[in-house]
Amino acid sequence: MAEPRLVENYHPQTASQRRIPESIVFWDETLRDGEQTPGVHFSPEEKLRVATLLSEIGVSVVNAGIPVVSEEEARAVRLVASAGLKAKVLAAARTVPADVDAVIRSGATHIAIFVAASQVHLKYKLRMTQEEVLAVSLKSVRQAKEAGLHVAFVTEDTVRAPFDFVERLYREVQDAGADRLVVADTVGIMTPLTFRWYLTEFQRRVHPKDLSVHCHNDLGLAAANTLTAIECGARAPHVCVNGLGERAGNASLEEVVVELEALYGIHTGIQTERLTELSRLVEELSGIPVAPNKALVGYNAFSHEAGIHTHGILANTLTYEPLQPETVGARRQMILGKHTGKAAVVEKLKERGITAPDPLLLELLHRIKTGTESRSKDDLRRFLREYRHLFERPGLSDDEFWTMVDALGIAAVTT
Ligand code: MN
Repeated sequence: MAEPRLVENYHPQTASQRRIPESIVFWDETLRDGEQTPGVHFSPEEKLRVATLLSEIGVSVVNAGIPVVSEEEARAVRLVASAGLKAKVLAAARTVPADVDAVIRSGATHIAIFVAASQVHLKYKLRMTQEEVLAVSLKSVRQAKEAGLHVAFVTEDTVRAPFDFVERLYREVQDAGADRLVVADTVGIMTPLTFRWYLTEFQRRVHPKDLSVHCHNDLGLAAANTLTAIECGARAPHVCVNGLGERAGNASLEEVVVELEALYGIHTGIQTERLTELSRLVEELSGIPVAPNKALVGYNAFSHEAGIHTHGILANTLTYEPLQPETVGARRQMILGKHTGKAAVVEKLKERGITAPDPLLLELLHRIKTGTESRSKDDLRRFLREYRHLFERPGLSDDEFWTMVDALGIAAVTT
């Protein structure tokens, strides 16, 4: 990465509690879980563009999708798998022979085989017993291994499943040849402390050769929990660009990478200075806008308005920024507005080589403040209304759905 300015947060007392693996395998899920963000659809060509950039910046594993989903999805996986990327191309499969077969035929070298583990999933979704789940898992793992694939085994909702079942299932699939074991916090209910306990116990009971985690952001803890998992020895964290994914999304690639680089001084092998470029590409292709206050890649991540802050930043950026915006390929912005102070105005005038006497500076400052305070918010409100409307129903509209129903002649059942 571009010369990181490390955060001065290093407390040697905490070092002994960390078991961060030598090399981190970033496993990107943008094109699978990220595509499951409501309303998101990537064409095969768009998947290739994202996968190519992910590979270029140093991501190790790219999940290209679930080929059994549709013809187009299968074509997308084949397109990505045959592009000669440096990153390993992975595709996902349920514990169903046809799913595994579709991955084998896709040309992907890596497979993620997933099945649910918790009682609530087994009882209400799969309607399977633990014995049945174990049997189909072993069968699928063996099927994929026989085809020469690198096999990761994932259970949905791992952390809410009975631990005895988790232990038995993961031990047996590992014995059957699974290369990597993934623990999933599918509904995002772990905290860093509970996850630390969980993973320590998982490692003691299962002895995974290679541990991976899949964290969701339902309560805003995905990146924190992922970082905790890495501290506990997890080597292959699942991440998504811009934190995309089902519901509130997954752990954000840019957050986890930069946390490791900036907070621990770890060389992740990721070109962090291209993270903003990657974020913008995924924002454009997914149609999901990045929140202005999103960490690292949001518009406001390196923006300053308040006088006290801009004054500090102009003197030394370390006063109000943990790292340089160039670290992620972003630019610092000084926003002139209600909270602006004199120093920011002086700095702004310098852009045209102007130095103004104090009385004029104060008058200019006064006009900036009253100008922004009196500015009409109508445009902004109209924009937000239109924007909301766009995202209220990003999938098929009701009209489109009922037109299809009518076209097929599907009639109401009358008894
Ligand atoms: Mn997920």
